Amino acid sequence: MGQGELRGVVAMDGPSGTGKSTVARRLATALGAAYLDTGAMYRAVTLQVLRGGVDPTDSAAVLRCAESADLRIGTDPAVAEVHLGEVDVAAEIRTPAVTQAVSAVSAVPAVRELLVARQRQLIGEAKARLGGIVVEGRDIGTVVVPDAGLKVYLTASADARAARRTAQDSAAGLQSTVDATLADVARRDHLDSTRAASPLRPAVDAVEVDTTELDVAGVLAHLLAMVRDRGLDHAAAGR
Ligand code: C5P
Repeated sequence: MGQGELRGVVAMDGPSGTGKSTVARRLATALGAAYLDTGAMYRAVTLQVLRGGVDPTDSAAVLRCAESADLRIGTDPAVAEVHLGEVDVAAEIRTPAVTQAVSAVSAVPAVRELLVARQRQLIGEAKARLGGIVVEGRDIGTVVVPDAGLKVYLTASADARAARRTAQDSAAGLQSTVDATLADVARRDHLDSTRAASPLRPAVDAVEVDTTELDVAGVLAHLLAMVRDRGLDHAAAGR
């Protein structure tokens, strides 16, 4: 058993631009836990699809790409590490071409089965090593870890989400406008929440947190309080 403060899994789901990644990483860091960005896995498979010149809506061909992808992802919250073979693709999976195609790839049920199995394996390894992990995605509380000790569903107004995504893009050197990002966020939300396989929706036992009016520190404080209230922190064992 590891030395981290978190015991078990915190599942963090919600649409894009709600601050999930930033908050999930910081929560993991604050608790000495591992962190898994499942969206990065769907993005890496999408990059493999695009590199192979495969049509993202051709399910059979997309599955073959997913099966053949030598995908490795790190679980250290301090390092965004995603590899396809020997190549570090952490930056390339954030490009507009990947963002545009990822919802079609992630809607293929067999791709989801493959990645969910891999996610469960990574989660098991991280728990054995550190005791706990914060896992971020769309279906973590509903499908990947339905018995997670804490399930959080982050929301925010569409305007706030588009503004955050635009700021992230510009920090990454990508040009975008709030209007274009708003349209893209709405398009992906629609595709992710209306797909047949594991659609984006809160688990019945998830705690919804609206981040529209909260800054990162505010959300983090709220989540840390929930972890402690539920006795998911190591210190709780002695209380
Ligand atoms: O979190 P991020 O915006 O990087 O996720 C990219 C896409 O990957 C989402 O729009 C969604 O289509 C897909 N995804 C998913 N299930 C997850 C995580 C991400 O379908 N658990």
